[in-house]
Amino acid sequence: MKSDIEIAREARMDTVIDVAGKLGVPSDSVLQYGPYKAKISLDYINSLADQPDGNLVLVTAMTPTPAGEGKTTTTVGLGDGLNRIGKKAMICLREPSLGPCFGMKGGAAGGGMAQVVPMEDINLHFTGDFHAITSANNLLAALVDNHIYWGNSLGIDVRRVAWRRVIDMNDRALREIVCSLGGVANGFPREGGFDITVASEVMAILCLAMDLKDLERRLGNIVVGYTRERKPVTAKEIEAAGAMTVLLKDALMPNLVQTLENNPAFVHGGPFANIAHGCNTVLATRTALKLADYVVTEAGFGADLGAEKFFDIKCRKAGLKPAAAVIVATIRALKMHGGVAKEDLGKENVEAVKKGLANLGRHIRNVGQFGVPAVVAINGFTSDTQAEVDAVQAYCSDLGVEAVSCTHWANGSAGTEELARKVVALAESGKSQFRPLYDDDLSPWEKVRTVARSIYGAEDIVADKSVRDQFRQLDEQGYGRFPICMAKTQYSFSTDPSLKGAPSGHVVPIREVRLSAGAEFLVVITGEIMTMPGLPRIPAANTIRLDGAGNVEGLF
Ligand code: ADP
Ligand code: MG
Repeated sequence: MKSDIEIAREARMDTVIDVAGKLGVPSDSVLQYGPYKAKISLDYINSLADQPDGNLVLVTAMTPTPAGEGKTTTTVGLGDGLNRIGKKAMICLREPSLGPCFGMKGGAAGGGMAQVVPMEDINLHFTGDFHAITSANNLLAALVDNHIYWGNSLGIDVRRVAWRRVIDMNDRALREIVCSLGGVANGFPREGGFDITVASEVMAILCLAMDLKDLERRLGNIVVGYTRERKPVTAKEIEAAGAMTVLLKDALMPNLVQTLENNPAFVHGGPFANIAHGCNTVLATRTALKLADYVVTEAGFGADLGAEKFFDIKCRKAGLKPAAAVIVATIRALKMHGGVAKEDLGKENVEAVKKGLANLGRHIRNVGQFGVPAVVAINGFTSDTQAEVDAVQAYCSDLGVEAVSCTHWANGSAGTEELARKVVALAESGKSQFRPLYDDDLSPWEKVRTVARSIYGAEDIVADKSVRDQFRQLDEQGYGRFPICMAKTQYSFSTDPSLKGAPSGHVVPIREVRLSAGAEFLVVITGEIMTMPGLPRIPAANTIRLDGAGNVEGLF
């Protein structure tokens, strides 16, 4: 099999004008970035308000191995499969971050015969959205330090500046810094630091904003720091929201590209899936629902994190009502949950698969708690055996859920026809009765407890008094109605990444709660959360280069 980049380079792409034409978008609303990428104008998007919505399908997954189980690949494959069986379908994905491209090998635009293209562009710079987000974030940082420099009339406590700078690069040297060194003219020295751009609250805000006005309102609500009396100081008080919105006005428009099979795809926004909610922009999803009868979208990490946040944050806030969910499972991940070591995942082991199915079963039941009907997609790897696949299908059928074998990675849409038909049947059955897991007016502490017990199978949650006080203070300050955004390891239902399967009765320790007042959620942290990754000993960057013909080499 050819590498992802070789397959992508051989794609016969339609012009983006033609791709938009399939959706009925007139060419004067297609703002082109070269022949194969475009943004869709906000005026045109606003004109769609009265159109009916198509069916929204979430692609989520069982608890993954570190290699990823193929949510993006399955999202692309299912979108193509739905088109293949005659449905007007499109997909919505996140934009990849530049940082990981140069770190670990591994694609973010799908894989094999299920990819979005132009792949190099999507992975590198794309339409400049991340640049705009970086600039807006750092403008606010500069304005905060400048406010302090010129007399600090808002009384920001220099030790309690909460706003950090960002850059779209894995650069551990910048995690913690001391800034404003060098004397009186450079301000007041203080500790600061950098996060990677996708971890910026500005990214989360862009992804949840309904329109430009809502974007500006949310940016204004960002809490940049606190006074000595612990009173929050906002970006609005710093008078930053207007200029930040100006920097973001183009970034808010969804990016249109295509799959290898020339079907339309929005690739837009890319928030972290730990300290943020991990899905593409609300604007792209809502626009796609106006343009297509089926919209397939992905949420980051396994269903305990990705699907929960997709439902409880994105759908709740944007008024979305998913019609069906696809839970991606792989034989190798099932074996891993059944206790098989990484080196042995390629060997047949039906007993281990059976043991690992408890993990998939928990995810199936969890999705059911949101009232959304689900189908399991077995993302086929060449090492899978029929006996292993049979075991999965028998188990799922006992739970009343179908499990469909898919080969989109090897065969494109021909490998997802059956999955596409099942998804259509679920959506048309009208079975979905979507409801978030908890009510807005439950206290933040009780919201976390509900998620931990219902989704993670935990007995309870615990925290030190200082953390519980923080919960209470946030509630008193008026932030209690926000949904919670759980930051937990994606490798276990518990907070211990090595605890596989479907552990229950465990206790979830809460280390910290952080306010994202602009994104309108409370980030609840249960482990070490990395907001600035580092590069590995041998980074992918070492082998990325241009070949003699000017093609990018080494990018996956
Ligand atoms: P996720 O979105 O769940 O993180 P991806 O779809 O990005 O996962 O897939 C992770 C990696 O695994 C990608 O490099 C992709 O090409 C590869 N991959 C996905 N499905 C298959 C498959 N069926 N066979 C081989 N490789 C696959
Ligand atoms: Mg993915």
